[in-house]
Amino acid sequence: MKIHVLTLFPGMIEDALRWSVIGRAVQEGRLSIHAADIREYSLDKHKKVDDYPYGGGAGMLMQAQPVFNAWESVTGGKRVRTVYLTPQGRPFTQALAEELSGEEELVLLCGHYEGIDQRVLEEVVTDYVSIGDYVLTGGELPAMVMIDAVARLIPGVLGNEDSAEEESFYNDLLEYPQYSRPEIWHGRSVPPILLSGDHRRITQWRLEQSERLTAVNRPDLYEKYQRKQELIGLLLKDKRNYIHMIEGLRRGRAEILCWEGEEILLYDRRCRLCMISASSAERGERLLSLAPEETESFVVSQAFFMEMLCGGEAYEVHSECRQLLYTQRVPLPVKHKDIRKLTSAHLDYVSGHYDYDGRDYVEARIREGVMYGAFVEDRLVGFIGMHNEGSLGLLYVEEAYRRQGIAVSLEAYAINRILEKGWTPYGHVIVGNQVSFALQEKLGLYRSDRSVWWLEKK
Ligand code: SAM
Repeated sequence: MKIHVLTLFPGMIEDALRWSVIGRAVQEGRLSIHAADIREYSLDKHKKVDDYPYGGGAGMLMQAQPVFNAWESVTGGKRVRTVYLTPQGRPFTQALAEELSGEEELVLLCGHYEGIDQRVLEEVVTDYVSIGDYVLTGGELPAMVMIDAVARLIPGVLGNEDSAEEESFYNDLLEYPQYSRPEIWHGRSVPPILLSGDHRRITQWRLEQSERLTAVNRPDLYEKYQRKQELIGLLLKDKRNYIHMIEGLRRGRAEILCWEGEEILLYDRRCRLCMISASSAERGERLLSLAPEETESFVVSQAFFMEMLCGGEAYEVHSECRQLLYTQRVPLPVKHKDIRKLTSAHLDYVSGHYDYDGRDYVEARIREGVMYGAFVEDRLVGFIGMHNEGSLGLLYVEEAYRRQGIAVSLEAYAINRILEKGWTPYGHVIVGNQVSFALQEKLGLYRSDRSVWWLEKK
């Protein structure tokens, strides 16, 4: 990911981000941070960048010209996502950090003095973001806060891939209390359950602690969490047809945009994906009016949505699928022994054999650590992965290695990785693909009795 910071104080950014986790990520090339000095772009002979506001008032304002030229020089005039840090923006949250971590390039614009001339903001800014309800002297600290929160979500930046998934705000809960050595300190003991070695009970204890803490410290978050749990409870009554929504909510990926009785609209911000279900076309129409404009894909549970969305120029039907899910808790046996997580060294192979979603998509899946390959005598001969929104897929085995159980092993391996996270493995299979249905059912997955349709922006 490439981040450009437009600032009057580039040194502040460069010094602060040299350290620890972020500094290492920059050194390893997972992240590039470039601070552009707005003053250098001033056409004024004294390199002036500010002036009095029209209409009077306290303080000085940053002028449009230097800001625009700095922005143009780093973006080449391209429409790159550009965030202006301002107390007037929408609050910066973990959800927004997650969304931004999926961008390849980002521009952060730091104001100073009383702010920036409105006209240049209107020309270049795509998002207005605040880090809290207080006023700071400049946008540099907010930009650094944002970079820190976004960068640590980029795959590979944190050593332990799971650590971001256990933390505060993941799934609308605050993190549970944690303890390290010694067992007794100042006469206080570590809660005995943490020493029990019983992982199931430890997970349950941690969840209860998270719920209790969130209810006490952040009742606003807790209310959101409870509503999500309630909706999951309802969807579980028809699990096979709503597993995509259930897992989207459980894995902390989807948020509820609307839920009134049977009318449900969920949004996965990172994938720009809406999941929608309604009891009638009329009600569906109303739900659709609440879908974000930037939605790239829809998974719709009723056929009538196709006419509504695909009638015009906006969306087209990509596929009709049945969902398949594995609801047993026991891991599956994996016969083929040499299966490993893939790295960027395998990108050419994977994108050469999987051309449905493009090379960038495949690269992102590898970076996220959710692509696995089967090797024979150290040579990659097939792979499987998890799609962006969480379903299993991207399965391929070379012709010469088919009918040897490699696909079954790959799928079993991927299912086991998902089970380790405490999730329910599921996939979407295009109606008519009998080979795939047979493979999934052989492994113990069972299928939905109704279709979902994937619609994509044209
Ligand atoms: N006059 C502005 C207002 O009332 O909204 C405040 C300007 S502030 C003194 C100067 C700069 O600091 C802003 O342009 C913005 O870039 C940054 N800034 C200050 N507080 C911030 C906050 N809470 N979140 C994000 N940026 C902030």
